[in-house]
Amino acid sequence: MAPGYAVPIIDGLIPDNLKIMSLVKLTPPAAYLAIDTIREKPTDYPLMGVIAPGHVSTIIGGKAWAPIAENFGIPVVVAGFEPIDVLFAIAEILRQLKNKEAEVVIEYTRAVTWDGDLKAQSAIRTAFESVDTAWRGIGFIPKSGLKIREEYAAVDAMKYYDIPELTPERWRYDLPAACRCAEVNLGKAKPTDCPLFMKACTPDRPVGPCMVSMEGACAVWARFGGGGLADEVAKALGL
Ligand code: SF4
Repeated sequence: MAPGYAVPIIDGLIPDNLKIMSLVKLTPPAAYLAIDTIREKPTDYPLMGVIAPGHVSTIIGGKAWAPIAENFGIPVVVAGFEPIDVLFAIAEILRQLKNKEAEVVIEYTRAVTWDGDLKAQSAIRTAFESVDTAWRGIGFIPKSGLKIREEYAAVDAMKYYDIPELTPERWRYDLPAACRCAEVNLGKAKPTDCPLFMKACTPDRPVGPCMVSMEGACAVWARFGGGGLADEVAKALGL
């Protein structure tokens, strides 16, 4: 979404009565932290490969995921969203694991290139600067957010309404009591490890953010569940 904000900001197309509060988040730093956290303190759920998001990668390119493959030695496949895309990504991860490879492969070639959309990247860099920013339940992740640059302060809602920046000192744990969303997002817990899952917290009455969005891990788990064939395959693979 960032290029969609960046271009009108740069081109002066934001009307005077509209201000923008930038809460844009960058995916690779968060993914990097999640993987780092898991590898520092291994959990029951080993991380053996990454399926990187195709939509984000149309802008940032496959190259943005290279540090994960290089530094952690695990396969990364940039995939699309059709079932066949995901199946291909899993097959490619398994192929790399079998051959002891760890590289970034772009499966979603109909939309993603290695370098990404250079024009969009340039617009983002012009309108925004990357800053440390807070993620719900997790805290501050270095260089994981975009802030509107000083020269475009006239459209910045934070400046216009004099809203103080959130700092690591002022940040407080910001998930509902007992919600384990942060651990779920970091791969340290399954949705079913949360005592509220499908009891107090359901897709119709979400308690935490992972249940609110259709794409949230808890909402997905609630709709499609774990167990069954998925567990059998995991067991056969020794996971
Ligand atoms: S089930 Fe609800 S409360 Fe529990 S981790 Fe998921 S979103 Fe949070």
